[in-house]
Formats: sequence, structure tokens, C-alpha cells
Amino acid sequence: MAAPKVRKTQILIGDQWRDALSGKTFSTINPATEEVIAEVAEGDAADVDLAVQAARKAFDSGPWRTMNARDRGRLMYKLADLVEENLEELAALESLDNGKPISDARNADLPLVIDCLRYYAGWADKIHGETIPIRGEYFCYTRREPTGVCGQIIPWNFPLLMAAWKWGPALAAGCTIVMKPAEQTPLTCLRMAELALEAGIPPGVINVVPGFGPTAGGALVDHRGVDKIAFTGEYRTAQIIMKAAAESLKRLTFELGGKSPNVVFADADLDAAVAGSEFGLFFNQGQCCCAGSRIFVEESIHDEFVEKVVARAQERKLGNPLDASTSQGPQIDQAQFDKILGYIEQGKNQGATCLTGGQRFGDKGYFIEPTVFSQVTDDMSIATDEIFGPVMNILSFKNIDEVIDRANNTFYGLAAAVWTRDVGKAHRIAAAVRAGTVWINCYDVLDTAAPFGGFKMSGMGRELGEAALANYTELKTVTMSLD
Ligand code: ADP
Repeated sequence: MAAPKVRKTQILIGDQWRDALSGKTFSTINPATEEVIAEVAEGDAADVDLAVQAARKAFDSGPWRTMNARDRGRLMYKLADLVEENLEELAALESLDNGKPISDARNADLPLVIDCLRYYAGWADKIHGETIPIRGEYFCYTRREPTGVCGQIIPWNFPLLMAAWKWGPALAAGCTIVMKPAEQTPLTCLRMAELALEAGIPPGVINVVPGFGPTAGGALVDHRGVDKIAFTGEYRTAQIIMKAAAESLKRLTFELGGKSPNVVFADADLDAAVAGSEFGLFFNQGQCCCAGSRIFVEESIHDEFVEKVVARAQERKLGNPLDASTSQGPQIDQAQFDKILGYIEQGKNQGATCLTGGQRFGDKGYFIEPTVFSQVTDDMSIATDEIFGPVMNILSFKNIDEVIDRANNTFYGLAAAVWTRDVGKAHRIAAAVRAGTVWINCYDVLDTAAPFGGFKMSGMGRELGEAALANYTELKTVTMSLD
């Protein structure tokens, strides 16, 4: 497939596409070739200030918050339709900018984006308060009002999907948005913002400021005109944001990393467990916050599991992401590439057995071979740290109590999975593991209607489902005397 045309590289403020006030730009790189795709306007505090003013105006006096909620929903449906009409272009642009296989962008990312926008379009007119029978001659009711101007800071692993997860509930609630896409992958978010204007979503409701984290992102966190920050990325960045936001006590929601345990019992359907574990780790080049990166396999089936999973890892087809037969693309950038290879070296040095992969693939682009380690122990850095790459770590266990303790022995708590035919065991694990999502005999089954987020240092608040609407609404209590 040919590379798509890049249409939008400027900052969007209101309905104006602008260069950065500083005149600066940064390069977005094709991770498969290491070549520059485009120069993108590099927003900083001055541009963020203009974007927040536009979002503030659209919130305080624009029609978005006060229009009939069903009409707001209709505009969101229209945006979903336009994304669907432009699915091929957006999928190709995502593949180009992020390096993910076009087949994944086409069959996973884009359909989920469209589904998310439609799901929240349906919520727009279903957000309401309650009447409450309080003591005395009063009429008391609650209203759910939009939180206000939302600063949304997203990562590069699912650029368009992360934008949709954040736009969906914010738009449905009547909030306005200043989004900062990741510096590695600004292109699809800008294009979707163009489609939002085309759909008729009023100017200023969605503003997009591409730029770097500490400058553009930091300015959004510091800005007094922003009511809430929604952030997806590393916990260390969330710590910086939380400290900075303390100044204005902004509302915060975080979706952060993980080191998710994936527990395979001897009584599982082995082939399904192998396939699910392979998908749960290698999908998206291993760049998933919920990747099943600690695979605990019961001792009696350990060797058979390892043999089968290695064979599957070796079948993965690395290559040009725009080729429909490619199943694994490059890592996002040089920094991630170096970090992942560093972890692979640590794994080898710390005594784990590297059964396949373990090095760069090819001599151009940030490709890393699918890598499988066995003989991994809980204290090795490959078992404790989020690698965010195609590195599978297999640990063995003897019994359920032991594996529950070990699964929980992490400061993360995003996801977990269990593979067994014993329903009792499955639900015991589901209840005992401290994680926001537990999959039983499946992995990475995400649906817009089901909440997603982390326990412990994997996050605060929930995205998706009805739960996400709470992040974008303030509850107001109104009490009227009946005397
Ligand atoms: P990742 O490893 O996924 O890049 P980061 O947390 O570094 O995770 O980045 C996620 C998003 O947060 C990106 O859009 C990035 O630019 C932004 N970001 C990074 N540092 C900061 C910061 N200090 N303040 C606000 N946003 C930041």
C-alpha cells in the first residue's frame, strides 16, 4: 500500500490552523525507515494559552455545553461516520506514523475508534441527575454538569484510539478539549480534529496542540483555565503532573503502565492459552500498557507451553507496516528501541534463558525480533519493569496461593489473565488479583462499554463505559424550599 498524504501538521485553535507562535517545528519520523515523514508545528506555553482561551470561550459561552444533548450526540455520530468514511486513509496514516501493521490499524484501532465515538454519542442525552427525598419541605435534585475545559495528554502506542477514548466521554458530557498528542505520533489526531470541524462540532470544542511533554504538556497542566487533566502514559510522568496540578487542584485521571500477570494453569486449553498469551504480549509490538508481560505457567506444563509459544513467536512476520501481510512492525523510536535491547541484555546477564529473538531485525528501522525468555525469576528487571516491547517472560509456579502472591507482587495493577477450565479457580484468581481488568481464558478483549483502568500505580479513575463519564462531570446539588 502506498503511503498516505499528510494533510494536517499545524496547531488547531478554534477553527484556525496555525504555525507555532515561536515558528518552531519538530520532525515526526517513520519508525520503519527512520526517515522524516513531516515537520509539525511545535506548540509551547504560548500556543497552549491560546488553545485554552479558545476552549474556555467555547465552554463558557459557546453552544456546545448548552445545546440539546441529543444534538450534541448527533454531531458525534457524524464525526464517527466521517472517520468511517476515511478509515483507509486514517489507518494508513496511523501505520505510517506509529509503525503498527496496517492490518491492525484497519481491523483493530479504527473500528474501536468509531465504536467509541458512537458509544459516547449515545450517552450524550443520557447523562442526568436524580431527585433526592431530603428531610423537610424541600425539593432536592442533582445535576451532572460538564467539568469544563479538559487538557488531554496522550501517548503514541494507539494514537487515534487514545484520542477517541478521551474525546468520547468529554464531548458527550459537554466539555471542551485541548489535546496534546504524543510527539512521536501527532498526525492522525490532527486529521481527526479536521474531521470533527467538518462534522460540525463547533470551533473551540476540540483544540489540538502538538509538541513536547515538558513544554506543551506541562503548560496545559499548569494553566489556570484548565479544569481537568486526563493523562495516559508513564507513572513517572503522572507523578510530575500530579505535583504540578496540586497548585490548582485540577481534576486528574490517569491511565498508566503495567506489568500484568498472565497465569496459565495445567488444566487450561493449552493451545488457546498459548495463542492468547502470544497475542497478549506481542500485539502492537508489545507496546500495550496491559501487555501480559509476566507469564506464570504451572510447572507440569511449562516445557510444552514454552515449546509452543516459541514456535508461534518465530512465525511472526516482521516487515513494512504498510504491507497487509506484516504482523509485527518496528518499535516507536530510537529511545524505546535502545531501552528494549537494554532490557534484553539485562535478562541474559541476570540468568534468564533467551529461547528466541533477542536482537535487532534488519538494519533499518526500529525492528526487534520477537523475544522469549524462560527461567525468569521474580526479582529480575525483565520481570519487574515495564519493557513495552516484544519481550516475553515466562516464570513457572507450583500452586494457586503461590501464584496469587507472586502476581500481586508489583506496584502495578492494570490487568491480569488466567487460563483454566476450573471455574472456581478462575474466579478465585479474578477476585484475588489486584488489577483493574481480569481476563478469563482470553486476553486483550477491550470493549468501549467495559471500564478500563488501573489499581495501584497503574492509574486513577476509569476510562470507557459509563464509568468514564464520571471523569467529565461535576455533580451539583440543588435544593429549593417548598414553603
Ligand atoms: P511514553 O513512554 O508513552 O512516551 P510519557 O509519559 O513519556 O510516556 O508520554 C506520554 C505523553 O505525556 C506524551 O504526550 C508526552 O509528550 C507527555 N508528557 C511527557 N512528559 C510530560 C510532562 N512533564 N508534562 C506533561 N506531559 C508530559
